Amino acid sequence: MRQYPIEKYRNIGIIAHIDAGKTTTTERILFYTGISHKMGEIDLGTTIMDWMEQEKERGITITAAATTCFWTPLEAKNRERGNPNEVRINIIDTPGHIDFTAEVQRSLRVLDGAVVVFDGVAGVEPQSETVWRQADKFNVPRVCFINKMDRLGADFEKSLESIWQKLSPNAVALQLPIGKESTFEGVIDLLKMKALKFEGDFGEKVIEEEIPKDLLEKARAMRENLVEKIVAEDDELLEKYLARKEISIEELRNTLRKATCNYRLIPVFVGSALKNKGIQPLLDAICYYLPCPTDLPPVKGIDPKTGKEIERKADDNEPFSGLAFKIASDPYVGTLTYFRVYSGNLRRGVYLLNTTTQEKERIGRILRLHANQREEVEEIFAGDIVATIGLKNTSTGHTLSDPDHPIILEKIIFPEPVIGIRIEPKTKADQEKMSLALKRLAEEDPTFRVKGDPETGETIISGMGELHLEIIVDRMKREFKVEGNVGRPQVAYKETIKEFAEAEGKYIRQSGGRGQYGHVWLRIGPKKRGEGFEFINEIKGGIIPQEFIPAVEKGVKEAMDKGILAGYPMVDMSVTLYDGSFHEVDSSELAFKIAGSIALQQAAKKAKPVLLEPIMKLEVITSPDFFGDVISDLSARRGKIEDTKDRLNLKVIDAKIPLAEMFGYATSLRSLTEGRGTFTMEFDHYEEVPQNIAQEIIEGKRR
Ligand code: GDP
Repeated sequence: MRQYPIEKYRNIGIIAHIDAGKTTTTERILFYTGISHKMGEIDLGTTIMDWMEQEKERGITITAAATTCFWTPLEAKNRERGNPNEVRINIIDTPGHIDFTAEVQRSLRVLDGAVVVFDGVAGVEPQSETVWRQADKFNVPRVCFINKMDRLGADFEKSLESIWQKLSPNAVALQLPIGKESTFEGVIDLLKMKALKFEGDFGEKVIEEEIPKDLLEKARAMRENLVEKIVAEDDELLEKYLARKEISIEELRNTLRKATCNYRLIPVFVGSALKNKGIQPLLDAICYYLPCPTDLPPVKGIDPKTGKEIERKADDNEPFSGLAFKIASDPYVGTLTYFRVYSGNLRRGVYLLNTTTQEKERIGRILRLHANQREEVEEIFAGDIVATIGLKNTSTGHTLSDPDHPIILEKIIFPEPVIGIRIEPKTKADQEKMSLALKRLAEEDPTFRVKGDPETGETIISGMGELHLEIIVDRMKREFKVEGNVGRPQVAYKETIKEFAEAEGKYIRQSGGRGQYGHVWLRIGPKKRGEGFEFINEIKGGIIPQEFIPAVEKGVKEAMDKGILAGYPMVDMSVTLYDGSFHEVDSSELAFKIAGSIALQQAAKKAKPVLLEPIMKLEVITSPDFFGDVISDLSARRGKIEDTKDRLNLKVIDAKIPLAEMFGYATSLRSLTEGRGTFTMEFDHYEEVPQNIAQEIIEGKRR
């Protein structure tokens, strides 16, 4: 039996530019929701770190991929646990840095709404923009929290202005700060027209007062503006408004809720997480304005039997569907698979179908993770976010489905790693420990790969950027106690072909006894960027027996992995097996595998092979003084400038640029701009390497 109505669920993420205060805000939320009993102060020494270490030892998981807490809006008469106004908030962890595009995407994929935290001094920073655009892509309704109002230089109006300018003109302020910097003491609730102060050692007592006189006029004007924006979203309200009839706060809230869920308005709140001001009203806002699972359109997927698009409503009576979004290793229970239930319900012990791999999985123990405890649950329902233990074949992005009503939910597509480095343990004795640590980390993160170099025996790790790999190496040290030495970063080039070609592959040995006989003809051809590899079998009438065909494909893949120009894997091509022959006695899988490899190499040589390199999407922000220098430096790095804009008093440059030219860019941009330029970069696509540079790479003169 469902205990919590689905309308009382909020599955949210807290997203922010690194350093804006995501961790502190999350901490305070967990504190006020009454579940965490101590409060960490990052700046006040090591309390928080100690706390987290200790909590970890006791099995407490503030860093869990999803943490459940409960909140009842401040104005509710009954605020006891379990009251009818209580809302269950599942906070889904989102990463702070854009290098983890995969992490950002998979978390945005499973949450229903987000709180975007801004630094009240810096306003909208480049990375907040990137995250914002990703949230746009996934249609995530959101509210904004302008944090750090207590800091020197904090400016609410300027921050709001930068949200309007850079992110969305639909942002509307629901609050006004009282004072700023060291005099910041509370907020004005513009709907209720009351001042809120936060008293007690931890700001836990929320006091409602009259608005200070000097702010009254401003608050009235801002309320007028807010109400106008809200009533414009609903014809009935608009009529009432124009007829100057009374509109209740509840009516305004309901309409604002709908507009927020439809991405038409974005409520903005203000406070200081560090100084314990403004968090409780933010929690209220999560309850009032962010969607519950049924506020959003049904989730879409593919029926694997028909290939047709189907939907699942957020309803317990629909067939079960869920999406695994995070695999985490837990020192106590082993591997945890976090998943979101989109439809249906489920008791522990049942079998589900992993429609991505077509394998059955038994769902054993199911856990709901709170800030300070794990709760075992017997039954889960639409909208739930939980973790299960012991799934063997389910990775991030896989769909779990009712076996009788299979569905494949929209896949999370992860980009291929674009950069690799060699890594070895500081002490030889740690080799095995390092392999294990890297394996664990790779299981958690689909854009991080580990590979042994068969020639040198070295380990190569690859990922989405320099910082991504730095963080992995750091985690290896902190979480697995293995230190690594790393080499210089290397670009993950790829190879492909530009033309169609055919070739024969023969592997025939007759030297007394049983011989070897494999013989194939292959036709290969180019495919579009990102389309990958396709193997087509056109063998008819048993010219090659069916049992040897997979071996041919295997040989082809092995040859492709080795590449033809400079040892990089070949991608984006089709390979058709269309002719060949076999020998009754001498043919074997091995012989056909080798024949496949030979034919692929022969054909690839004739098909105009080329090298591909990762091209990054780059945004540089600089003051106009250095604009010219930055542009000419980018051109020297083979960058293509796509757009330049003015933003406030800064210049913004959008460019596409080869990753190979971007190592150490942070340092050189700093020196070019006297430390006043910033940039963000993410992978965009693979593109052919210009001929002269390709030649240098092939000859090993350039890496
Ligand atoms: P995250 O990187 O977004 O998770 O940010 P953190 O929560 O770790 O905060 C980054 C830094 O900003 C830390 O030193 C915090 O103590 C500080 N900080 C967070 N919130 C506030 C705030 O409201 N006011 C001030 N002055 N500092 C804050």
